[in-house]
Amino acid sequence: MTDSEIAQLHWQHHLLSSIEVGIVVLDRECNVEVWNQFMENHSDILPSAICGTSLFDHFKEIDEKWFRAKADPVFSLESPVFLIWEQRPYLFKFGSNRPITSDSEFMYQNVTMFPLTSPTGEVEKICLMIYDVTDQALSKLRVERLNEELKIMSRVDGLTGLFNRRYWQERFDLNFKLAKRRDRPVTAMMLDIDHFKKVNDTYGHQAGDKVIQALAAVIRQSVRETDLAGRYGGEEFAIVLTDSNAKNAHIVAERIRSTAELTQVEHDGNLISFTVSIGLSEYGSHCQSALGWLEMADQALYDAKVSGRNQIITKNHPD
Ligand code: GH3
Ligand code: MG
Ligand code: MG
Repeated sequence: MTDSEIAQLHWQHHLLSSIEVGIVVLDRECNVEVWNQFMENHSDILPSAICGTSLFDHFKEIDEKWFRAKADPVFSLESPVFLIWEQRPYLFKFGSNRPITSDSEFMYQNVTMFPLTSPTGEVEKICLMIYDVTDQALSKLRVERLNEELKIMSRVDGLTGLFNRRYWQERFDLNFKLAKRRDRPVTAMMLDIDHFKKVNDTYGHQAGDKVIQALAAVIRQSVRETDLAGRYGGEEFAIVLTDSNAKNAHIVAERIRSTAELTQVEHDGNLISFTVSIGLSEYGSHCQSALGWLEMADQALYDAKVSGRNQIITKNHPD
């Protein structure tokens, strides 16, 4: 070997060691032939310990069948294969050696596998390049998580944790369409706290907020997960009771009414009691629109108020 060839080899070796990408060369049996510094640093396995042995003996997390199915086309079709972290977070389970600010326990990796042709033109080896994409993956996951939180926040009322009016209405419209198609009973409920202005006037707005929260908790405990409960206005709630006719809905309404009546809200040393009025309307073919159906429940609520409050009235047919 000439001096210049030796120098060339030296530079190539230096490049292989200092590059911040993992480089692994495998033969057809998946025995390791090249294991660069990056791979050594992250796996704590020396090239002398791994070269000439099967990759699978060292990395139990790599499923041999799966890996061979990925690598085979690289040999046979001589085309590269890409593994991206969104599909599989990593090929090699390396602890993420980012600064401690990183909240990932492992290194996310993108991997490229490409064929290495011999001087005779045959593909006898493949090269894997392992890219550390932890920062990229974490920030994408963070954005996705934030978007998910925003989506939930945009649906939920801040004070009570029930659905807000906009989202409730959206879902109610869907429920109306479903009710028309399905032959299952479904009942709408409107609920309003009695003489709530007095609570605010006597104990203050904050106390009023606590009463609204207490009632929301009563509602949440009383309905099923499949029911749709929302804060419709200040101290007004709307609920869709799925698979419930007016009679069954009345049982739920009575549970809410009686529990509310017994609930006491503590504020500044005062115990505040309250009652609620409830209107019910079961869906029927006379309901021409979602709004019409809801208005009937609202009229029932109005009747409950006029009839003396702290009671439930059902209205299933237009007058
Ligand atoms: P009724 O029995 O006829 O329902 O009498 P009411 O006093 O409850 O009358 P109404 O339902 O019209 O009163 C609603 C009051 O609720 C008026 C408003 O000041 C108060 N309110 C609306 N939103 C909130 C809120 O978020 N917090 C508090 N504390 N009060 C609210
Ligand atoms: Mg009220
Ligand atoms: Mg009201």
